[in-house]
Amino acid sequence: MTMRESNDYIVDARNITKDFGDFRALDDVSLQVKQGEVVCILGPSGSGKSTLLRCLNHLERPNEGAVWIDNDLIGYKEENGVLRELSSAALAKQRTKLAMVFQRFNLFGHRTALENVTEGPVQVLGVSQAEAKRKALELLKRVGLSDKAKNYPNALSGGQQQRVAIARALSMEPTVMLFDEPTSALDPELVGEVLHVMKSLAQSGMTMVVVTHEIGFAREVADRIVFMDEGKVVLDDTVTEVLNSTNPRARDFLDAVL
Ligand code: ADP
Ligand code: MG
Repeated sequence: MTMRESNDYIVDARNITKDFGDFRALDDVSLQVKQGEVVCILGPSGSGKSTLLRCLNHLERPNEGAVWIDNDLIGYKEENGVLRELSSAALAKQRTKLAMVFQRFNLFGHRTALENVTEGPVQVLGVSQAEAKRKALELLKRVGLSDKAKNYPNALSGGQQQRVAIARALSMEPTVMLFDEPTSALDPELVGEVLHVMKSLAQSGMTMVVVTHEIGFAREVADRIVFMDEGKVVLDDTVTEVLNSTNPRARDFLDAVL
């Protein structure tokens, strides 16, 4: 299971099962994403979407199955034919390939927008302050927040905070970005500005896995939609196929959100 040939998937999750005690949160879930692809994951609350994202970056360790990111087996290394768990330092290094943006913005409250974006490169990547600052200003510009660099999170709207969180994620130069309902905690009038930034990221060729209930975004931006229910992938297909699916479980969900 942990041996395989290199391939051109940036995300290659195979046959993931995740149990919490007696409860099976993920049941034999596989997900493959190619370079530059945008895959949206839809599904009712509790269907395992967040758990799947957390398995991708090994925040949760699957009970069965394995995840390769850019052909790198996550969480383990092979030594003399034996699989060993990575040290937390080695895992942290591996995780820099994945950036995650959460529903809650998770900014450092006592740091300015700019400092939030320079922190990772300086602390984790060993980039100089000056270089990190130069790049952070560029990233803040990219998310439309050039004029907010000196603001603390509590002086930013939710949408602005989420855009800082995206700039912060980008500062680590990830290979793939994972979004877990990035607009669900926002007031409705702030959703658009965040989706706009995500859309421009997608157009720039970023590989993205996006858990979202924003069907409009999925329709416009996604290359594929994965529909999950009760810990299983029910559908994994083009936007048109999924949105027009006659699968009863998908239909119930889609008709409620469309
Ligand atoms: P979704 O993101 O689709 O709403 P989650 O992946 O968060 O679903 O959760 C899937 C199921 O797994 C839910 O029933 C949830 O209660 C359960 N679950 C998630 N994390 C844990 C945990 N750490 N311990 C126990 N149960 C969990
Ligand atoms: Mg969730």
